[in-house]
Amino acid sequence: MSTEAIKKDILRGGQFLVKETKCEDIFTLEDLSEEQKMMRDSTKEFVDRELWAHWERFEKKDYAYTEECMRKAGELGLLSVAVPESYGGMGMGFVSTMLVCDYISGATGSFSTAFGAHTGIGTMPITLYGTEEQKQKYVPKLASGEWFGAYCLTEPGAGSDANSGKTKAVLSEDGKHYNITGQKMWISNAGFCNLFIVFARIENDKNITGFIVENDPSNGISMGEEEKKLGIHSSSTRQVFFNDTKVPVENMLSTRGNGFKIAMNALNVGRIKLAAACLEAQRRVIGEATKYANERIQFKTPIINFGAIKAKIANMATNCYADESACYRAAKNIEDRIAMREADGNSHQEAELKGVEEYAIECSILKVAVSEDVQSTSDEGIQIFGGMGFSADTPMESAWRDARISRIYEGTNEINRMLVVGMLVKKAMKGHVDLLGPATKVGEELMGIPSFETPDFSELFAEEKDVLARLKKVFLMVAGAAVQKYGPDLENHQQLMLSASDILIEIYMAESTILRTEKNAKRFGEDAQATQIAMSKLYLYTAVDTIIQKGKEAIVSFAEGDEQRMMLMGLKRFTKYTNLPNVVALRTQIADQVAAANGYTFD
Ligand SMILES: Cc1cc2nc3c(=O)[nH]c(=O)nc-3n(C[C@H](O)[C@H](O)[C@H](O)COP(=O)(O)OP(=O)(O)OC[C@H]3O[C@@H](n4cnc5c(N)ncnc54)[C@H](O)[C@@H]3O)c2cc1C
Repeated sequence: MSTEAIKKDILRGGQFLVKETKCEDIFTLEDLSEEQKMMRDSTKEFVDRELWAHWERFEKKDYAYTEECMRKAGELGLLSVAVPESYGGMGMGFVSTMLVCDYISGATGSFSTAFGAHTGIGTMPITLYGTEEQKQKYVPKLASGEWFGAYCLTEPGAGSDANSGKTKAVLSEDGKHYNITGQKMWISNAGFCNLFIVFARIENDKNITGFIVENDPSNGISMGEEEKKLGIHSSSTRQVFFNDTKVPVENMLSTRGNGFKIAMNALNVGRIKLAAACLEAQRRVIGEATKYANERIQFKTPIINFGAIKAKIANMATNCYADESACYRAAKNIEDRIAMREADGNSHQEAELKGVEEYAIECSILKVAVSEDVQSTSDEGIQIFGGMGFSADTPMESAWRDARISRIYEGTNEINRMLVVGMLVKKAMKGHVDLLGPATKVGEELMGIPSFETPDFSELFAEEKDVLARLKKVFLMVAGAAVQKYGPDLENHQQLMLSASDILIEIYMAESTILRTEKNAKRFGEDAQATQIAMSKLYLYTAVDTIIQKGKEAIVSFAEGDEQRMMLMGLKRFTKYTNLPNVVALRTQIADQVAAANGYTFD
């Protein structure tokens, strides 16, 4: 672990809203070490050879092929990146884990889901919460791909309300084992896994408890048929029934009643990894769509020459670039926080748990933003292919269907949006993020006379950073007034929470994009970053538009009369550009670069 990481004054989760981040302090894909680049390249090679070349097999419900590829990934060590060396893993840092998740996930959502369910929610609860014996017994097998894991939280009556499950765990009379009985549904990897992480309730406990359960059909475990799904056709998804399944007491994960916490923490890590898993799919769709647009002739010209197509390519590339920027920024924050905690004497296990928990807000932001971008990108991918995009013979159609699930699992995007604001308010109440001070200042600024000076915006991103700082004031103004008005009852004003969440999401994504480009422009020169500069400006412009719309909606929902007028004026002031960017020219510039490179080449 580098001393540089330990020394850094790392922002706490959520503090990006109230503290300035310097571009030098964020990690970008351009900062990858040689070792990380090798990891990325060998992952890509594996994907091209084993997955992309056979994408049609994944469409034909070839579950066995998914399992075969998982085994091959295990042989190459790709399942063990995040596993500590003492349990047979590579023990690489959080950024490397994200890299593998990212580049392994582009070819098909079927493999991506199998990989995520196994390495994330299937294995990680044991590495994070297991006893030494549990880890020694199970983790090496899971890391090598000899065994596969699955995660059984959801039940027919317990989806988003995950702590309401009815599965029971009853202690045997001799106190040696629990008998688990219940029905789980939507269980990824169920068809070929060797082990389940199962959540069940003991007696009438308030919270569920986690267990490690080996998959043994002779022990009361049975399964439903494979679910017939819209997408991820070769990802095994089944119901799993436990009928008096005997589980030794030593297979309880963590302590009684701690299951909900395990489930939530596993999901926090899962969310940021899911965001990473939606990146390479975007790059591949952009690549395929660009190649098609360069070759497809209509009206005697390649369709890439049409402004309508350029706009799509530019928006797709810009979103992907923003998503990469934010994912790797947060990943390194988590890695640094883990290093800091380890340096403070925490075990790796504790450090990792706390490190990820710290950035739970960012994890939810990324899950929502990136899962929605992969959906819109694959949608536009179909549009660029025209009728051919609608055909199952091209990979656009499956990319679109596969993308859809990412908005549902690992907590739906509605739940995650609510969490973004809810967790931030909680952090403020605990004193971890000072929202009150900055919100009060914004209130005072609203009452004051605005400055009519024309600032000097000659430096790169001077105006964009000024706009960003004011966008943060929009959030503080809206959320501050909403908290004041509703207090703890705010959570019952969901539409307002959703608007506030969208504002915060756009701020984080836009800021990450600008900081990445600023950092790179400083070291590689502005000319070398011309397209990235254009993408950063375009992203911010679109974010401002979203924030105006969401801000307005939020304000009119709870403020009236003079207060409403004052806040709407504030919204106008805080979202104002002195020099509006020519977004049509920006899009053209971006699209021309992507077209010339015949794909997305900014990673
Ligand atoms: C392909 C697939 C694979 C999966 N893999 C796994 C797995 O491996 N393990 C596992 O345990 N689970 C898995 N799941 C389950 C998944 O996590 C759940 O589907 C998800 O959490 C949503 O739960 P639900 O389907 O019951 O929807 P519900 O919770 O019923 O939600 C329905 C709608 O209501 C909204 N909603 C619910 N509550 C609220 C609220 N409080 N406020 C606002 N809106 C709300 C939701 O956002 C959604 O739009 C998988 C699901 C699928 C489809």
